[in-house]
Amino acid sequence: MIISTGTASGKSLAYLTPAVSACLDGGTVLYLTPTKALAADQLRGIRDLRITQVRAACFDGDTPFDERTWVRKHANYVLTNPDMLHRSILPRHAQWSLYFRRLRLVIVDECHGYRGVFGSHVAQILRRLRRVCARYGSSPAYLLASATASEPGVFAKRLTGLDVDEVTEDASPKGSTTIALWEPPLTELRGEKGAPVRRTATAEAADLLADLVLADVRTLAFVRSRRGAETVALQARAKLADVAFSLSAHSTPPGHDLARDQAPRRPRSHGPEPPDALPRDAGDDSSPARTGAAPGSLSWALPEDEGWEGLPEKVAAYRAGYLAEDRRLLEKALRSGALMGLATTNALELGVDVSGLDAVLIAGWPGTRASLWQQAGRAGREGQDALAVLIARDDPLDTYIVHHPQALFGRPVEAIVLDPDNPYVLGPHLCAAAAEIPLTERDLPVFGDAAPGVLEALVAEGLLRRRPAGWYWTRRERATDLADIRGGGGAPIHVVESATGRLLGSVDEPSAHTTVHTGAVYLHQGETFLVEELDLEAGVALVAAATPDYSTFARDITDISVLSTLRSQPLGPGTLHFGEVEVTRQVVSYLKRRTQSGEMLGDEPLDLPPRTLRTRAVWWTLPAAEVAPLAEEGFDLGGCAHAAEHAAIGLLPLFATCDRWDIGGVSTELHADTGLLTVFVYDGHQGGAGIAERGYTRAREWLTATREAIDSCECERGCPSCIQSPKCGNGNEPLDKQGALRLLATLLRP
Ligand SMILES: [Zn+2]
Ligand SMILES: [Zn+2]
Repeated sequence: MIISTGTASGKSLAYLTPAVSACLDGGTVLYLTPTKALAADQLRGIRDLRITQVRAACFDGDTPFDERTWVRKHANYVLTNPDMLHRSILPRHAQWSLYFRRLRLVIVDECHGYRGVFGSHVAQILRRLRRVCARYGSSPAYLLASATASEPGVFAKRLTGLDVDEVTEDASPKGSTTIALWEPPLTELRGEKGAPVRRTATAEAADLLADLVLADVRTLAFVRSRRGAETVALQARAKLADVAFSLSAHSTPPGHDLARDQAPRRPRSHGPEPPDALPRDAGDDSSPARTGAAPGSLSWALPEDEGWEGLPEKVAAYRAGYLAEDRRLLEKALRSGALMGLATTNALELGVDVSGLDAVLIAGWPGTRASLWQQAGRAGREGQDALAVLIARDDPLDTYIVHHPQALFGRPVEAIVLDPDNPYVLGPHLCAAAAEIPLTERDLPVFGDAAPGVLEALVAEGLLRRRPAGWYWTRRERATDLADIRGGGGAPIHVVESATGRLLGSVDEPSAHTTVHTGAVYLHQGETFLVEELDLEAGVALVAAATPDYSTFARDITDISVLSTLRSQPLGPGTLHFGEVEVTRQVVSYLKRRTQSGEMLGDEPLDLPPRTLRTRAVWWTLPAAEVAPLAEEGFDLGGCAHAAEHAAIGLLPLFATCDRWDIGGVSTELHADTGLLTVFVYDGHQGGAGIAERGYTRAREWLTATREAIDSCECERGCPSCIQSPKCGNGNEPLDKQGALRLLATLLRP
């Protein structure tokens, strides 16, 4: 069964009740969640129930080895994550035999996180789990909990391989929430190719946060990066300091109610930003030197009676990594009203219990309707009414959404897509399954229709051995090492701070070319670094902390060839296809762009090898007779197709749960394989992730939205809100806005 309802609708209670019953009846329970932090929160909740028969324990990378034996032998409620199930529990199932024999219930919490390639891996891990349970004679029920999603039953069936009932009706008591869609105005600044630049979402968020705090409204602002969150908090504090100064100059007595009535409504400046104003974007920036108190300095634990001077102290930034006691202090400050405004990244989702908020500001489309409703759902205390404001960033999807409220309201949220049949995912799990218990013919249906073909290939590669009784793993290595369930395939590149040797993180090899090439500005948890050197052979990128006033954009040359067409259908006068492609990409240089103005600072060459990617794509073609009139009118066909491609990539996340960074595109006036004007959009992961396939099935809606997004943008010849792409390999050249509209109108002709 899957329960797919909103925030705070009681999902935990719905799975805790049968789970506790299972334990009381002598059974065991497996609880799976994507992150360790969530498991720790859950564990605290279960222990608070104080039911002695429920012996709950976390089993993850942090569990000490001497405790692991206790968990295996005695725990009846085990909280873990898919990684641990994959690497440790399933391969050592014999040590868990007592536990598996009595397994009654598998809870898959926050399962909307299992999408794309990661979701496909988890789907195969769950199939391996079913086989191991069968070995011990148990057949547990699966209870999935998800944020609201479209067609949750279909998703859950793809994830588990089982028929699933869905529960989607949310009857929990709630006040009403007013949702505002907010588009920042255009400024006098000019960006790439002279395109107009909008005021940043972070600058608008800071203004709104200050205004709401003055009006005594408890507000949480979600900002994409930590640096962005700190900037919002700093700017809001600065504004409140101005107000406090002018108010105390007029000796108005302190008091929030007065503040609500008398706080001066300062006109919001919609002109160009002053030279040292906010960085252009919350995520891709480095902010200039700041003044004022250090953000997030836990300075809001202030005395109650503070007067106007205390106003700025009512706003703070929150980031992940605070100690538990700091977080409790922060929750207390918010509850008491000592703190009225908090700017945060999504880190807040983990570990802080913030209730009793009146308003939520969301700086930038959070990627999906599901996460928008989740963030908006934070506002509203005890059934009271609340406010949520979505502030658009300079981006086609954000623009489309603020101009088309119907894309949000009364619409189901996105479907969660995954593709468990991806051979690059399935292969390693078939090996792992064979290592756990030799595979037999009877097992194949569990792993889906693609399994027989993939098995044959694994035997040919010498990874598995075929014997009369089935398929065997006979190698010395651990089969589970073949699957890199969170990565993009291939050995990851380690990002290391050269001065200290500190490992900051890792980047999968394909992304390394574009994100940590020599000279790149690299963001890690909101901190900025410059890449000194990328050494692909050693698998290391050396970086140094820096605060450059520019950001970098890799430029590449991309070729795409069609390997096979799996499905086709007519689309207007053209044809839509879905199939397998090979993409060859070479990063050849990078652009430096000034953070605040978007001004170009130069194009630096790079020497990186080409990479090939076998994946799945959706593409459309138009016959020569249909595009000839456009060429005759003087439109640049390449620019028309290119602009349509950019906007289509920007809009696809509205139809498939993905990031625009998960997909790529190629467009051409004349493609060698089709002989026609062709626009491709492909999954950026080996073997595909189900995103392009979703685009194929929803093509008419998707491309209609694309045309409307371009059409509703008030710029003249294209801007980042419509047809310019922040990751264009060709430096946004050529692009033709009017031509793209004509091209899409032709394609969508009924
Ligand atoms: Zn525009
Ligand atoms: Zn491009």
